[in-house]
Amino acid sequence: MTALTDTATPTDSALAEVYHSVESEVRSYCRSWPTTMAVAQGSWLTDTDGRRYLDFFAGAGALNYGHNNPALKQPLLDYLAADHIVHSLDMATTAKTEFLETFERVILRPRALDYKVQFPGPTGANAVEAALKLARKVTGRESIINFTNAFHGMTLGALSVTGNSMKRAGAGIPLVHSTPMPYDNYFGGATEDFHWFERVLDDSGGGLNHPAAVIVETVQGEGGLNVARAEWLRALADLCHRRDILLIVDDVQMGCGRTGRFFSFEEAGIVPDIVTLSKSISGYGLPMALTLFRRDLDVWTPGEHNGTFRGHNPAFVTATKALEIYWQDQSFSEQTTAKGAHVRARLDEIASAHDGVGARGRGMAQGLKFADAARAAEVCRTAFDHGLLMETSGPSDEVVKLLPPLTTSETDLDSGLDLLAAAVAATSS
Ligand code: PMP
Repeated sequence: MTALTDTATPTDSALAEVYHSVESEVRSYCRSWPTTMAVAQGSWLTDTDGRRYLDFFAGAGALNYGHNNPALKQPLLDYLAADHIVHSLDMATTAKTEFLETFERVILRPRALDYKVQFPGPTGANAVEAALKLARKVTGRESIINFTNAFHGMTLGALSVTGNSMKRAGAGIPLVHSTPMPYDNYFGGATEDFHWFERVLDDSGGGLNHPAAVIVETVQGEGGLNVARAEWLRALADLCHRRDILLIVDDVQMGCGRTGRFFSFEEAGIVPDIVTLSKSISGYGLPMALTLFRRDLDVWTPGEHNGTFRGHNPAFVTATKALEIYWQDQSFSEQTTAKGAHVRARLDEIASAHDGVGARGRGMAQGLKFADAARAAEVCRTAFDHGLLMETSGPSDEVVKLLPPLTTSETDLDSGLDLLAAAVAATSS
């Protein structure tokens, strides 16, 4: 296997003592990648020992345009140098005006999406909480339908619609007012789509309270790269429409171009009532989130859902620039689709060369599922030893997930895929 770097692989003991003595046991990524990162550019990070790492994780999807993208960094530096507003609650600022105008012009209007924009706080979970709360307020109903293996965040509302039992157990109180339904292909095609959901909705003995909303990911990133078919999403949107249930698409991880188009639901031709965005919306890894909803759903009263960090203006500056650079025409989206197809072809090759390995994903969210779940972690460890950052996902961490920055060059994509192929080969028994 070709190592990208030739210095010794760091181990957990290489982390500064302060991580062990001061930081909580809850820390996680520094356990998978036990080294201290110093600088980053594009798809590459360098640690304090000068080892270089090719980043196939992109801040869990928060760095779709790469680390420290120079075209976004310069406007940010200029903004800071001129003493423009950094923190603003939700006061009006020049940076916010420009963001809202650009988002409407570049994203909403060309897609005929008549959404209002809410700044719910800077994380994906914040965007989800606002979406759930709004859906309940609009409909006057409590219950939300979520899907098996869904992931929507760690706050109590978001956790209540999340599948993972380990994460749910952390809540410490009952997680209520949500009902899980089978995601697309949950029964391996054996059961008709929506058979269960539609049946209990219709059955006065079904025991299901009429839901306020359905929350769905078009591709379940944390849940193991489960891809909902476009026809399944259309049928879901149609069912919601017919039964007066709001449809929330959580595009926190798959939005901002990860699957090709700006919104991951565009390909299915559906128009959700509410959409959540975060991760790559700032374009620069700066915290920022949006909850978008149909204009007529805007029933909030002023200040009813507020918070301190809803106006992080540096994030608005880089977000605006990213929209201007990457989203004024189709070319970035087409490049992503082409890169995604290439990655998938290489993953199919790797999978066909090994038993118990299958490729899965959509666009530039691709991965390998291992029949032996422990092997997925071993592949990631081996890849890390050779300078490639990847993470596992899925209920048993059985999927190696690839989320490279969308700006990764074809050469770098191939180097990373070579390392992945070698890591899979090295772990075969
Ligand atoms: N929704 C989805 C689909 C996500 O993937 C995530 C994060 N992985 C979240 C919500 C929560 O985002 P955050 O971690 O920023 O709260």
